[in-house]
Amino acid sequence: MIHVNDLHKYYGEAHVLRGISCDIQPSEVVCIIGPSGSGKSTFLRCLNALETASAGEIIVNGYAVHDKKSNLNLIRETAGMVFQRFNLFPHMTVLENIIMAPMSLKGLSRTQATELARTLLSKVGLADKIQAWPTSLSGGQQQRVAIARALAMSPDIMLFDEPTSALDPELVSEVLDVMKNLAGEGMTMVIVTHEMAFAREVADRVIFIDQGIIQEQGSPQAIFNAPQNPRTQRFLSNFR
Ligand code: ADP
Ligand code: MG
Repeated sequence: MIHVNDLHKYYGEAHVLRGISCDIQPSEVVCIIGPSGSGKSTFLRCLNALETASAGEIIVNGYAVHDKKSNLNLIRETAGMVFQRFNLFPHMTVLENIIMAPMSLKGLSRTQATELARTLLSKVGLADKIQAWPTSLSGGQQQRVAIARALAMSPDIMLFDEPTSALDPELVSEVLDVMKNLAGEGMTMVIVTHEMAFAREVADRVIFIDQGIIQEQGSPQAIFNAPQNPRTQRFLSNFR
């Protein structure tokens, strides 16, 4: 589903991704962990063309993301993204937030899109909030709407960039539960997270990135119980 080969990214002089290669299978759930500033967000953003790769190859569900001739809209349709900050449009209701893109980009009628929004809001446990304004919702509810909005484009892959790190602690689990269900349904997911218990439970594979390089990867058991790389050991010791 995702093929990355020797991906490099520079911001000016700064060499932020320094040769990342990985393959992610359909329905695989990959959690990416690593210190702040190590390139996790940049990597995720390269996957759906929010950043352009400086060098290397990225194929996402058949689309050559590194190729400047590729259609960015199709890439972003196939790989939905949820960010740390709930970026709902504040001047639109929950419903309008969800139906806008499928109507304008997928040609759904308002009736079809509204039906879809209902289904997705039920799925994230917010059926009763369809007419609510984003500001009237808790952070956890807003983030669940953001997930429903991304799902409304029928993505084949979901990318999550620290989806719970801006939330009050008591709101984290409601968002993680939605993600867990999505994983159970077979969605291919790449999740940058500091929620180690979640990664341990849900991930098929954990990738540790530091200094723009995959330093170590493996099953959650391997990474959390017996990390081989001293950098991984040092990083994980902060979470015990
Ligand atoms: P992480 O998500 O692991 O915290 P990031 O991918 O956000 O790391 O950032 C990696 C490095 O790239 C950091 O040093 C950061 O300051 C730098 N960086 C990120 N985005 C930009 C940008 N748009 N312009 C310049 N430097 C950036
Ligand atoms: Mg980040």
